[in-house]
Amino acid sequence: MRPNALSPRRVIQKRKRGTIKTNHADWKALNEDSTKSRAGKNGFGGLSSLQQKMRDKLDSANFRMLNEAMYTSTGAEAKKLLNENQELFSAYHVGFRRQVQKWPRNPLDDVIAYLSTQRHSLRVADLGCGEARLALEVPQTFVKSFDLVASNERVQPCDIANLPLENDSIDVVVFCLSLMGTNYGDYLKEARRVLFPDGLMLITEVASRFDKHDPHTFIKGVEALGFRLEKNHPFMKAPSMGKNKKKRRKKPPRKQTSEVGERHKFSDFFFNFSFKLQGNDSDQLDRPSDTRSLPTLAACLYKKR
Ligand code: SAH
Repeated sequence: MRPNALSPRRVIQKRKRGTIKTNHADWKALNEDSTKSRAGKNGFGGLSSLQQKMRDKLDSANFRMLNEAMYTSTGAEAKKLLNENQELFSAYHVGFRRQVQKWPRNPLDDVIAYLSTQRHSLRVADLGCGEARLALEVPQTFVKSFDLVASNERVQPCDIANLPLENDSIDVVVFCLSLMGTNYGDYLKEARRVLFPDGLMLITEVASRFDKHDPHTFIKGVEALGFRLEKNHPFMKAPSMGKNKKKRRKKPPRKQTSEVGERHKFSDFFFNFSFKLQGNDSDQLDRPSDTRSLPTLAACLYKKR
């Protein structure tokens, strides 16, 4: 994976030293008690427009910092950071929600559209669920939603490298933009553990996280863990996939790190994958545990506005 990846603490230290640039005001704001800054000077929550502006800036600085930390650390390190600093997580989701509104499509809608056409009895696990909108909008009644912090009662807090689920107990696992940690191979192995034989794993990721927008080595790495890409699966045919391919041939981007900005269209930015688990339940103990053939995925950083 990424042996030299920065821990969240290192990211913070580097920012302090200026090795990673951060606007000083943002950084200062980042370290302030967010409840104080949210409440305003009088403590009643009535914010002047200047205060509102500062609050937006703080939210957006927190979002970018936490986002970067989550892409450059393991899930366990991110969990520790969030446990020490729970308010960062709400800032993350404020920022994430704002970002999603700028996209013409939300990739989560592809997952919802697909599941809406499927059996209601399917057991679904949403891994890295954010605010667990999936559980609210799909017809399946059994939907377990997991994230590092529970932002509402639908979410079970955990590191998705260690799910509180039985072996062979889930029909469909979903990773929607959530393969963030440098140890994302552990999340895939955990998905494999909880899936029924022939279970389905749906993944949506930002296209530029893959080297030259080419997910080939990623697909091979996932298949080495005992999954098979379902090339003709309807989820793979969601609008994002075809357009991505076209774009990729014309103009392969060079940068390892992507910046998702307002000018980009959804169709340029997301890949949907549908993998089926191979084998049967007696295979649990024999399954390959080596995640080394999985590529490092680039961090998806958001622009400072
Ligand atoms: N799937 C949601 C949220 C996407 S944001 C949606 O599409 O709306 C990615 C989410 O993955 C974040 O909420 C982040 O906290 C979560 N995540 C990343 N690594 C995780 C881990 N190791 N364990 C649990 N959740 C994780």
